[in-house]
Amino acid sequence: MTQTSKNIAIVGSGLVGSLLALYLKRLGHSVTVFDRRPDIRNIKFSGRSINLAMSNRGWKTLREIGLEEEVKKLAIPLDKRAMHIVGQAEYYQNYGKEGEAIWSISRGVLNRKMIDLAENAGVIFKFEEKVWDVDLPTAKLFTGDTEKGQWQEYRFDIILGCDGAFSRVRHKMQRRSRFDYSQDFIDVGYKELTIPPNEDGSHKLDKNSFHIWPRGKFMLIAMPNLDGSFTCTLFMPFEGEVSFENINTTEQAKTFFSTYFPNVMQDMDDLMEDFFNNPTSAMVTMKCYPWTYWDKVALVGDSAHAVVPFYGQGMNAGFEDIYELNRIIKKHGDDWEAIFQEYQKERKPNADAIAELSYRNFIEMSSKTAEPKFLLQKKIEKHFASRHPEKWIPAYSRVTFSDKPYTEALALGDAQEAIMKKVMQMPDIEKNWDSVAVEEKILSLL
Ligand SMILES: Cc1cc2nc3c(=O)[nH]c(=O)nc-3n(C[C@H](O)[C@H](O)[C@H](O)COP(=O)(O)OP(=O)(O)OC[C@H]3O[C@@H](n4cnc5c(N)ncnc54)[C@H](O)[C@@H]3O)c2cc1C
Repeated sequence: MTQTSKNIAIVGSGLVGSLLALYLKRLGHSVTVFDRRPDIRNIKFSGRSINLAMSNRGWKTLREIGLEEEVKKLAIPLDKRAMHIVGQAEYYQNYGKEGEAIWSISRGVLNRKMIDLAENAGVIFKFEEKVWDVDLPTAKLFTGDTEKGQWQEYRFDIILGCDGAFSRVRHKMQRRSRFDYSQDFIDVGYKELTIPPNEDGSHKLDKNSFHIWPRGKFMLIAMPNLDGSFTCTLFMPFEGEVSFENINTTEQAKTFFSTYFPNVMQDMDDLMEDFFNNPTSAMVTMKCYPWTYWDKVALVGDSAHAVVPFYGQGMNAGFEDIYELNRIIKKHGDDWEAIFQEYQKERKPNADAIAELSYRNFIEMSSKTAEPKFLLQKKIEKHFASRHPEKWIPAYSRVTFSDKPYTEALALGDAQEAIMKKVMQMPDIEKNWDSVAVEEKILSLL
């Protein structure tokens, strides 16, 4: 179905807002994007490149609009995890089947590319214009320098809130009756650190791996950048015995890194500067509902659903929102109320599912990886999956390498967990973990 051209405002020129702008422009709408920040294309790179992992759902959305190949040139495929365990040699775990990979891409590079493409297509960008208020029934928005100062008023047909986890557009919707909202911070924070390239520009670690140094309640990860560097993220509790709170001096930081990360520490040339200058940031799960107001306003991306980053799916889920919205738009044509209703009904359960999966991954990484029983269970699952790959697809693969709904990945993951609970109660499971009896038990329960 074709659509009548509308005058649409998008609040937020982040990854989701800029890609959605391009989609809507291609559908023939007038699109104006507001962002409180300066144009990211004019900001000199601070040298720090923050990257993220793009997987199947993200690529699917870029493919739909013909950008997959172009963006892939800016990304590095990671087909395996490189595990750095204390007292063991580095070893690798393939992510999925042959050819399956997640892709490391710089957030800044991707965002600039999206804004360029949208602007070239005719989208208008208004940077350094913060949205302070929205009038939902009339799709008016108000921008200005300060909350109490003079505001500029704009009227649109539709407003799409892509303004992230602490969305101003959502904030206005929250003030209505029967609007559900929850926000849960985890007690772990993160800090970004850098491994610079070798002098010849090559990578210091294997370039096609997602590197992990798991250490129980805290861990370090690293993803490669095109310039030969790696962006590392240290996840650690804010408070407690080993925590950000307890590392306040260079001496303490050096002791911490030489105790837990002695090898990688040598590769981080500016470790102390990075550690003390870079912020320690918090992570939140945010849920809300409804995501839309009449045929006027809708939330897309993190403004509707923010998740903790332990599945690498936040942006992927936001891109999938765009994919689905585009599909639904084509179904309902000019009936924006029907479009918004179907969009939120379809996406909300999936957003809740990826929030749950992401949170569980956090718990798994931070507390369970040290439990022998848990490790044994994972070993049995892996063994069984290698013998029956079509019968046992791990939840990680369903989330990362398929585009089946997140709800399905969660439900099937729960079903696998119930089976494994019974398997783990089998007598002498520690000794018989790779026996025919265990294999048959799983087959009988499937
Ligand atoms: C440590 C970490 C690692 C992550 N890793 C991954 C990963 O590997 N893979 C993945 O898929 N996801 C990852 N994510 C999640 C991903 O970063 C987010 O899901 C994604 O950035 C959301 O995009 P967005 O456009 O919805 O929101 P944002 O990126 O937050 O963009 C919001 C935009 O709105 C603007 N804005 C806000 N308020 C206003 C206002 N009042 N007026 C005007 N403009 C406004 C902001 O300036 C910003 O430009 C990670 C997140 C974190 C924290």
